[in-house]
Amino acid sequence: MQTNPLQHLMPTCHGAKAAAAGSVLGAPAMAGDVLAGTLRLNEIFHSIQGESTWAGAPCVFVRLTGCPLRCTYCDTEYAFREGRTAAIGEIVDAVAATGCPLVELTGGEPLAQKRSFDLVRVLCERGLTVLIETSGAVDISPCDARAVRILDIKTPGSGEADRNLWQNLADLRARDEVKFVLTDRADYDWAKAKIAEHRLAERVREGRLGAILLSAAWAQPKGMEITGCAGLSPRSLAEWIVADRLPVRMQTQLHKIIWEPQTRGV
Ligand code: SF4
Repeated sequence: MQTNPLQHLMPTCHGAKAAAAGSVLGAPAMAGDVLAGTLRLNEIFHSIQGESTWAGAPCVFVRLTGCPLRCTYCDTEYAFREGRTAAIGEIVDAVAATGCPLVELTGGEPLAQKRSFDLVRVLCERGLTVLIETSGAVDISPCDARAVRILDIKTPGSGEADRNLWQNLADLRARDEVKFVLTDRADYDWAKAKIAEHRLAERVREGRLGAILLSAAWAQPKGMEITGCAGLSPRSLAEWIVADRLPVRMQTQLHKIIWEPQTRGV
């Protein structure tokens, strides 16, 4: 049975309240060179988590710059290059200042920058619940064991399926989640086959994986570096899942329903 991730959040809330009150400074001393290490940062914002089993929870997002992929439906093309250099200590302070116990590293591809693993470790040591939204094209094994990885497996419709690092699946833990963004019926059938091949549903049932998420791609116009995507009807996806009795969790991008789909910083 899946655990409710919001239940897990409860004890860490206290840690985060303490962090907001200043006791974050009482965390084990972090080597200065780690905090002084820099990352390319696109934006930090406090919003509502729109995806995964954490959807609906207030969350602070740290969006890092850069991604080696060019998915057809990418909605954050601006993160490919835009950004500035920021010290890890500065990013951690900005996250702590929100008082939010839940933080997500996103991108771009956040793990494409090697120092992102340091950032994850520092945030975990400050008592925060850390989610990492990763494309699955980067080795996730160096991530701090306290972090939750949401592994976005790229389907053929993304145009980037050959970038999947399948060995990442062996590293997934009980709280991690696997996500497939689907552009059409062929993607759905492909995802269904991968779920069976890698016994993902069994892993969820046995408590060795947090969830399998299926998401209908939103329509995305052609961009400067992406080809765009016509999108998939959520209703079609829902009907396929029900007809197949597929043991997955359908999700949408909540923030695109709350705000206009192209709105940045939410
Ligand atoms: S992995 Fe794909 S969807 Fe995610 S930022 Fe990179 S190009 Fe965009």
